Amino acid sequence: MKLLVPGCAGFIGSHFLERMLAREAVEIVGWDGQTDKIEHLLDHPRLTLRRRLLKGPEAFVQFEKDLAACDWVVNLAAICNPSQYNTEPLRTIYANFIDGYQIVELAAKYKKPLIHYSTSEVYGRTLSSYLPGQPYDNPELYVLDAATTPMIMGPVQNQRWTYATAKQLLERLVYAYHKEAGLRFAIVRPFNFFGPRMDYLPGIEGEGKPRVLAMFVGAVLNDDPILLVDGGHAMRTITSIHDAIDALVAIIDRPEHSLDHFYNIGNPANEVSMRDLAHGVRRAFARVSGDDRYLEHPIQEIGSKEFYGDGYEDCDRRVVDISAEQERLAWQPHRPLDHVLDETVGYYWRKYGQRAPQRQPATAVG
Ligand code: UDP
Repeated sequence: MKLLVPGCAGFIGSHFLERMLAREAVEIVGWDGQTDKIEHLLDHPRLTLRRRLLKGPEAFVQFEKDLAACDWVVNLAAICNPSQYNTEPLRTIYANFIDGYQIVELAAKYKKPLIHYSTSEVYGRTLSSYLPGQPYDNPELYVLDAATTPMIMGPVQNQRWTYATAKQLLERLVYAYHKEAGLRFAIVRPFNFFGPRMDYLPGIEGEGKPRVLAMFVGAVLNDDPILLVDGGHAMRTITSIHDAIDALVAIIDRPEHSLDHFYNIGNPANEVSMRDLAHGVRRAFARVSGDDRYLEHPIQEIGSKEFYGDGYEDCDRRVVDISAEQERLAWQPHRPLDHVLDETVGYYWRKYGQRAPQRQPATAVG
């Protein structure tokens, strides 16, 4: 089986490649402009890497050849960093719609099944958040179900929604190609996947504002306060990257059940407020380092305008309904939040723990 994987070297791609290359019958042609997360796979005999982006006519010709020769297209290419949605809206729209649109067209032209990675952010905010008093006592007003839940976003001036709307339009393009031209597809909406190699640690691996867990871990390792945006009341359901990859693999393994559907990939059992997540990260650092002083690591509140700039608006809550996914994919996420935090914090602790000078580990977990 031959897979074409644009965006193969990001967080999700690195784990997907590891899993699929472990199967003897799989060959992968990956496209990506950067490779640091897949350095350990670069010599793999069944991985062909095109170290470039899909930009310009020459790249397009090569990409079309690769696509014509593959059995599946798994599109993981995206910019997904909330701090860029309102500060670099053009880049966000181009990367998440214009670049992706060519891939959809080619998949339809060559009749290749397309697994397209979208985002849980296409749902926007919950119905509850727009009702007086914010009533969260009725799950129908906040649980997100791929077949029935409406998608609700703020005004255009709140540019936080550039990402969600670009991704939503691409989903609609995929679906339109399915309806009008017979494109076979699976659209995956990830709900806060966490694990080793996620994003980059600010101040250590790059500059800027990656997603929340990378921010919190970076803050602890840099001995900066953990910052809670707008009090840390927003809720997310956290999903282990390994549970997520299980679902992606199931889509490929069960095409007769999986194709032509939308998938919420998340773990409703792992719902947590950002405030509780900050406490969970402190506990995970204490566990992996053996040093209880991490339980006291400072946590500070910050306003979203100061943190993200103008045009930011938060998703209030994302509780995922996965009943259809469980049935179609015979899939069940099972890694609890503390497991995800220990694995992720443990990975970064082993890599960068020596940066936390005043807290020498008593017994580091191997
Ligand atoms: N957040 C926070 N501190 C940070 C980074 C993010 O409190 O240092 C909050 C953010 O405002 C949002 C939640 O954490 O409520 C999740 O943000 P993330 O960047 O992971 O992306 P999202 O889930 O919103 O796509």
